[in-house]
Amino acid sequence: MKPFAFLSLLVDILGLRLRDRIALDERVRHIRVTTWIALLAAIWASYFNLHIDGMHALGTVELVAVVLLLMPATWLSNKPDFVGVAESLMLISTVAILGALIVYGGVSSTGVLWVFTAPFMAFFITGQRKGWWFSVCFIAAIAIYLAWVAPLLPFAYNYSPVYATHFVVALCFYTLTAAAFNQLRTRFEEHLQQRVEEKTADAKALLTQLQFLAGHDTATGLPNKVLLIDMLRNEMRGADANGRGLLICTLHLERFFELTNVIGNEGSDKLVGHIARHLGKLTHDNGVLARTGRDEFVIAYRLQQAALNPSVLERFIADRQFSIEENGYTLYIEFTLGLAMYPDHAQDAQQLLTRAEQAMLQARKDGQQWNVYDSDQEQVFVRHHLLFGQLREALHKQRLHVHYQPQIDMLTGRMLGAEALARWNDPVAGIVPPAVFIPVAEQSGLIRTLTTWLVGECLRECARWHRQGLDLDISINLSARNLMDPELMGVLQAGLEQTGLQPGRVNLEITESCFIASPERAMEVIQRIHDAGFRLSIDDFGTGYSSLSYMRSLPIDELKIDQSFVRTVLFNPGDQAIVSSTIELAHCLNLSVVAEGIEDQETADWLQARGCDIGQGYHFSRPLPSDAFEALAHSLGTGRKTAA
Ligand code: C2E
Ligand code: CA
Ligand code: CA
Repeated sequence: MKPFAFLSLLVDILGLRLRDRIALDERVRHIRVTTWIALLAAIWASYFNLHIDGMHALGTVELVAVVLLLMPATWLSNKPDFVGVAESLMLISTVAILGALIVYGGVSSTGVLWVFTAPFMAFFITGQRKGWWFSVCFIAAIAIYLAWVAPLLPFAYNYSPVYATHFVVALCFYTLTAAAFNQLRTRFEEHLQQRVEEKTADAKALLTQLQFLAGHDTATGLPNKVLLIDMLRNEMRGADANGRGLLICTLHLERFFELTNVIGNEGSDKLVGHIARHLGKLTHDNGVLARTGRDEFVIAYRLQQAALNPSVLERFIADRQFSIEENGYTLYIEFTLGLAMYPDHAQDAQQLLTRAEQAMLQARKDGQQWNVYDSDQEQVFVRHHLLFGQLREALHKQRLHVHYQPQIDMLTGRMLGAEALARWNDPVAGIVPPAVFIPVAEQSGLIRTLTTWLVGECLRECARWHRQGLDLDISINLSARNLMDPELMGVLQAGLEQTGLQPGRVNLEITESCFIASPERAMEVIQRIHDAGFRLSIDDFGTGYSSLSYMRSLPIDELKIDQSFVRTVLFNPGDQAIVSSTIELAHCLNLSVVAEGIEDQETADWLQARGCDIGQGYHFSRPLPSDAFEALAHSLGTGRKTAA
């Protein structure tokens, strides 16, 4: 290897591989440096030779070279287009000045050094190959001059032949040194350049990867929310330009966490891959699909017009349910969809996305599977949010209170109990009806605090009535979320302990909707409530579904016929049929029947004639504050006694 390496080095030094095509910016740098050094050196030399050394001919040549060659070269060295000209001027000035030095000055002492700079400069400026050309021509010219021309010129310096030979040999040696030096420098630079290029390529690859990761979801390779916003902006511009619309569809994957529990993390990555491919079919090349959260995807779909076409909508809605085979399981995938339209619903990409998300959240809250954004909904949304804050504060500061609506024995007219109804008169929000704040409390989870407070409050009140000799039961409304609350039993038991009430005095009202989300769990809780001795009542009976099936299996004590049937019962034969058959059915099952919403004597009479046990409604009394309620109880009499 070694001899070859040496040969290779020699070939390089001789510039035979023609590798010295120096980059333009490098040439510019080299010529800038050398022209300035040469200019200053030549000005100094011309001054020295003209004024101190008395070598006028040489000094004049130098001065002419400064003005005609070096100054223009220095100026042109700043212009990349003329770098070749600057190099040539520089070399010509070298030949002129050094030529004059050889002819007139005789290269001795410092003059020798000047001449030896020529090859270094030539290699440095022009590179290895041209450097050789220049140097060889330069040496040849000097040799020819010294051997044949100088003896003929009377004004030329008179060299001895031995000196001339020494001089030319020394110049050859320095030329070789300059070539070797230049080659080493070039190699070093090449090596450095190569390393820099490698590192730059590595950094670029990393940067590309980082940029990709910053804008994409790792599991699916789909754009993430950050990139989606950018892409949406583009899509919006495209839609504007073509007079088209854009449908933004937020897809929330239902029960994703449960699915992940079944199939594990790896499986869930595969699953989202499947889902992404499935959804990809929806967009084809007609939009963008992104994954914006663990269980959320967004599709931006280009519409042909600026309005939402029902057939497009149908297509998206049809796709919200599908199944996938994974690890031998059939997984049923279900989405809740929120849809928003550009340009109808927002002008800004971020806002458009938020609106689609709001529509989706609304759909989830309403238990619907899809929903298109509408601006009224937004107001509901904002109001809901405001109310949530205010309600939380009201609960914290105990600003809610309870009203009691009498429940009347239809036979005797005596008062049997009261339904506790929450009331909220807020200093800022004003009187907020339960129909507004109860849903807010249910959706936000505040219902737990509310019920805990209400149970404590009305059990205390009921115990107080008992101490005054009033024989009354208390009915408390429970929401579906209360039933799912593991602390509910504890709250009820604590209420009993603090007041000494019997559980049979407490009637818990639940609606059929409590069984929708998780029927088994609801059944279980209801059984525990019953076992603890509390009474159970089905509220708003007749408005839910599957009423008959659970009536058999549930340990309930009472049915409350919904007011929508009661209020029209005198005029509507259908309602009459429902109400009277419900009373009969309840009695067959040994349940007592409450009719709520009784607003007049005729309705009360009609119900009494059909055997309805208990009545509740404005006809008897509106819900009352505690003291007014107490006074009414005293005047009506309480407890189950026969009519006087
Ligand atoms: P609900 O349980 O069906 O309560 C009966 C509602 O009917 C009460 O409305 C009552 O004021 C009203 N009402 C009673 N008699 C008549 C009548 O003759 N005519 C008419 N038009 N209405 C009558 P309110 O107090 O506005 O309560 C509305 C709903 O809010 C309640 O319906 C109940 O579902 C819920 N709610 C109220 N307080 C609570 C509570 O503390 N906890 C829970 N979970 N829900 C509550
Ligand atoms: Ca009720
Ligand atoms: Ca009711």
